[in-house]
Amino acid sequence: MNNEHQNINTQLSSQEEAKVKEIYEDLAHWHVNTGDQTIHAKRMGGRFRQLKWFTASLWLSYFLAPYLRWDGQQAILFDIPDRQFHLFGLTVHPQDVWLLSLILILMAMVLFGVTAVAGRVFCGYFCFQTVWTDIFTWIEEKIEGNPTQRRKLDQGPLNGDKIKKKLIKHSLWTLIGVLTGVTFAAYFTDAYQLWIDYFTLNAHMSAWIVLGLFTLGTYFLAGWLREQTCLWLCPYARIQGVMYDRTTILPAYDAVRGEPRGKVKDPNRGSCIDCRLCVAVCPTGIDIRQGQQEGCITCGLCIDACDSIMEQVNQPKGLVRYASLNELEGRTDKPLLKRPRVIVYTSIILASFIGVIYGLSTMSAIDWHVLHQRQPLYTMMSDGTVQNKYTFKILNKTESEMRAHVEIKGPSDIAIIGIEDTIVLRADKMVPFDVYLRADPKQLPQEHTGITFILTTQTEPPMTFTYGSVIVRPAR
Ligand code: SF4
Ligand code: SF4
Repeated sequence: MNNEHQNINTQLSSQEEAKVKEIYEDLAHWHVNTGDQTIHAKRMGGRFRQLKWFTASLWLSYFLAPYLRWDGQQAILFDIPDRQFHLFGLTVHPQDVWLLSLILILMAMVLFGVTAVAGRVFCGYFCFQTVWTDIFTWIEEKIEGNPTQRRKLDQGPLNGDKIKKKLIKHSLWTLIGVLTGVTFAAYFTDAYQLWIDYFTLNAHMSAWIVLGLFTLGTYFLAGWLREQTCLWLCPYARIQGVMYDRTTILPAYDAVRGEPRGKVKDPNRGSCIDCRLCVAVCPTGIDIRQGQQEGCITCGLCIDACDSIMEQVNQPKGLVRYASLNELEGRTDKPLLKRPRVIVYTSIILASFIGVIYGLSTMSAIDWHVLHQRQPLYTMMSDGTVQNKYTFKILNKTESEMRAHVEIKGPSDIAIIGIEDTIVLRADKMVPFDVYLRADPKQLPQEHTGITFILTTQTEPPMTFTYGSVIVRPAR
């Protein structure tokens, strides 16, 4: 370590020295988050900052998706009254709940797998809490200035300027909260009509409740609580620790290279000049130099900050970098695919993915159930035939009406009664109806004789669905 420190260049040009002095002065008051103060993190450029903007921009799709149309229908619609989920022409019914469960498992496993490999990157780059907070604090900076100016404004007297700035900021925050709420509600009803209903005060009570909750929630969580939510409230922050191991790659401070930290002129210092810029930019207000912490959302902003300092003091970048504990301690990491938890997560992800693809590709246009009546199992008719009763439940899962024909396959001479030659299956509807089978009991070889109902649609091309059941006669 000492050899390394001897190589530290403490000779800076007067210009570089002035810059570093400015940084020291600017950051002298910065302290780690103790939960009792609003965090006003410093904003600066860098590759992770850019990545964060890019991933945040993907959330624009959240605001736009409800207005997309597919075959004349809303492309994404959670139709709660009809218990259906429409997704780009595909309709998922409660009967397909296994498919939704698989999709949820798939999403959870992707999250766990990513966490095992690279920590809370979801939190740092994509979580709605951090993304919305980032937008809110960006607005705050545009209106109230940099963190120092914001602190001064907060502590200063209530004057015209302060009232004006606060009013603009809180109005914009509320507006984003309202847009977030309307958008969420728009996934559950016709999005265009919803706006009309809100403006004409004709929206359903549930739409108002959703709007109220989301506006308040967004305003409070992203405007007031900010990353305190990540540090103190988020349950995921609490459980992520069990997914980490010594090979997980996280933003980390290279203490071997950085310590002992010291002021830039100190010839015995390590690479860390103790400028605290990494603390100042941290949205959760933690000091990465204290090691891995559950408050770290792995956003990488401290890496950008430290790299910029290393550049200024003519030292190699990467004092703070994405690295595993093994790497920092000079051990070799196991290859990614030899880590048991990565193998387990990957296997579950693959299995769920295959299940989802299979489910989507084999999802039937018709869901059909035939219930054989139990009480009584059969009725003897006056002409000597035996009659069985069945309830048909046919759900047409498509968006258009269909016509179909039902026939029976089994021992000959089974009459089917109570059903038209052509039945009409209304779009997205299931109307149960009763059907009777009549047969000469002597023609039925067994007490419970197997039969098959065959339903053929009059579509182009026709679709055929079969349902196995039994016809029952008295014992001989
Ligand atoms: S780790 Fe980097 S940014 Fe943080 S105090 Fe040290 S030199 Fe400054
Ligand atoms: S310590 Fe670094 S990576 Fe972690 S939250 Fe703070 S800025 Fe982001």
